[in-house]
Amino acid sequence: MKMLRGVGIPLTVGMAGLLSGCGTSYDLPGVDDAVNARANAMFAQAKAAPPRAAATPAAGAARFQRVASRVQPVAERLCNAELAEKGADCRVQLGLDMQRTDRNAYFTYAGPGNGNPVIRFTVPMLQDVESDDEVAFIMGHEYGHLIGQHIVKQQQQAVAGALILGAITAYGNAQAASAGQSYDPNAVSRNMEIGAAVGSKAYSQTYELESDMLGTRIAMAAGYDPVKGAQFFARDEAARSRNGQLSFWGTHPADSRRLAVVLATVDQVKAGPADRE
Ligand SMILES: [Zn+2]
Repeated sequence: MKMLRGVGIPLTVGMAGLLSGCGTSYDLPGVDDAVNARANAMFAQAKAAPPRAAATPAAGAARFQRVASRVQPVAERLCNAELAEKGADCRVQLGLDMQRTDRNAYFTYAGPGNGNPVIRFTVPMLQDVESDDEVAFIMGHEYGHLIGQHIVKQQQQAVAGALILGAITAYGNAQAASAGQSYDPNAVSRNMEIGAAVGSKAYSQTYELESDMLGTRIAMAAGYDPVKGAQFFARDEAARSRNGQLSFWGTHPADSRRLAVVLATVDQVKAGPADRE
């Protein structure tokens, strides 16, 4: 960073500030040793669980509708309370993805300009879940990505990251040119692309944990057990599916920290609103 001081102070300092300003909106609950020990034990148990027998597609779809009818009103209320001022659309379309053949569930915007938010579950995912608690936690977690504004923030970070790397490269090229050395004009656009990838990944684990926290609150408020539900994420599954793409467990890495956040959030909710700073 030192070499940037001469030219880049306002530019680089300003944008570094923007990057860190795109973090999470919520404080995660504190995790103490006791919670960690419980999380580790549960994680080991979930990891060792035997393969499951698949439910029928019809049973999976019925489970999805049953859980959605309870989770949606709760999650929409929380979303409106958190995002009404920002003008975000909280009317999420919950539905099945009938195309994909992998086990997956995701949140995305189906419309331009981050409009028309959707949460979709694939049929194989619904055949694999074992309880309504699991569907409720996964659904709450996906709502968490909307309420935490994670896609919006990753877009902002990708732009900021690309600008920073682009600025660094441009500066380096300018230095090289003024020193009479050759420079590579394509390096600017190449670095812009790398910057976009780095910016998109930088907070993903933090956002995952934030979504776990929000998903825990949503599942509890809808009357489900998020601790039972979250164990779905802890299963021993491959990070990539056969076509080489990241699987649900690739984008949601199994990690005892997840369960620790869920356990600590449950404790926090049970302790009552006074505990929520
Ligand atoms: Zn997620």
